Amino acid sequence: MRLWLIFWLLLGHLAIPYNPSPTQTTVEISDVSVVYAFGEQAIFQAKIHSNIPIQQSFLFLLPEGQTTRVVNITLDNQGQSNLPYDIKSNPIRPFARVVYWYRVITADGSVLESQKYSFDYIDNRFTWQNLDDSNFQINWYERDLSFGQQALNQAEAGLLSAQKYLPVTPTSPIRIYIYTNSSALQSALQLGLQSWVAGEASPDLRVILISIPSGPDQNLEMERQIPHEITHVLQYQMAGTAYQQLPTWLVEGTASIAELYPDPDYQVVLNNAITSGTLLPIETLCTSFPRDASGAYLAYAESTSFVRMIHEKYGSSGIQALMKKYEDGFGCNEGVTAALGSSLQQLQVQWQQEILGVDSQSVAWQNMLPYLVILVLLLAVALVSILHLAHKSKTIRPKYEVRQ
Ligand SMILES: [Zn+2]
Repeated sequence: MRLWLIFWLLLGHLAIPYNPSPTQTTVEISDVSVVYAFGEQAIFQAKIHSNIPIQQSFLFLLPEGQTTRVVNITLDNQGQSNLPYDIKSNPIRPFARVVYWYRVITADGSVLESQKYSFDYIDNRFTWQNLDDSNFQINWYERDLSFGQQALNQAEAGLLSAQKYLPVTPTSPIRIYIYTNSSALQSALQLGLQSWVAGEASPDLRVILISIPSGPDQNLEMERQIPHEITHVLQYQMAGTAYQQLPTWLVEGTASIAELYPDPDYQVVLNNAITSGTLLPIETLCTSFPRDASGAYLAYAESTSFVRMIHEKYGSSGIQALMKKYEDGFGCNEGVTAALGSSLQQLQVQWQQEILGVDSQSVAWQNMLPYLVILVLLLAVALVSILHLAHKSKTIRPKYEVRQ
């Protein structure tokens, strides 16, 4: 059966009549809207009318970066649907664009699907102000316009800094949301069931969330966090889904050297680790960083220093070559050898000697120490066995003497 369909669309605005014919099945969808309380509940509203009875209707939802969900909806006798959707038990990533559409099955078995609608799932617990240019949209609250302009300036400077290592231009504006404190930011992430730490980039969504408390350090914090998170967005833009295959030391090290105000405590942490012989081997930082705060801090400090050395020796083309190899599926060690012609181990020794000033012999000793301990233990066991045998042979010798 040929079907003709009329959708009266979008938030009460005018619809597009689609070859209407009085003799055929028609479905009208109008007054489509959604309201939500961030992290709590959304209510999807629509009016659905058909010239023959509706058997079933559904709402489809596709939040950006997540999978499609489908919900059965009921209509009252006016054809109105007010669907409450529990975001707590069906979390949506903060600031994701959510695409949704309706499907109606009429009594004659015809299936009709509406056009796609969308909304941005903004943290609407706050009233955001914004400023934008071609590369960025800056969003903030509880601060004045000059704060927003300052952040936009830092974002442009941060982009230039990040582009020294990754020469790519954002394909569409990067949205930056600036919270006033970390607890507000953390609660936003928890409401989205995300387990990020500190400054947060959601690079696949081209969204950056940071917290900048007011105070004398606010500019320095912006100079540190904004370029760092922009770098992650550019890394994703270059690598796509292969972003997940990049070693953590490379992802975080590159983002950290792009910071306009590098963390001054990194050198202190490195010096302490050198003195105490507790430097983490770089190959232990391939898939993740330690979970404990001090281990993670040392991992950031080492990755920053290590990637800076790679940039100094091989330039930004070296960093891009590394990314390319990892995108191609090379392992953490193999990627370094393929891209730079030196093994990760060789680079690490170079880094420790030339950058950290660690005595190579002491490094070698430290690396060999566990093996030496095992060797000494084995020798001790062997010695005890020999002595034991020697003792035994002494005690039986008289028998032979008697025979003679
Ligand atoms: Zn990072």
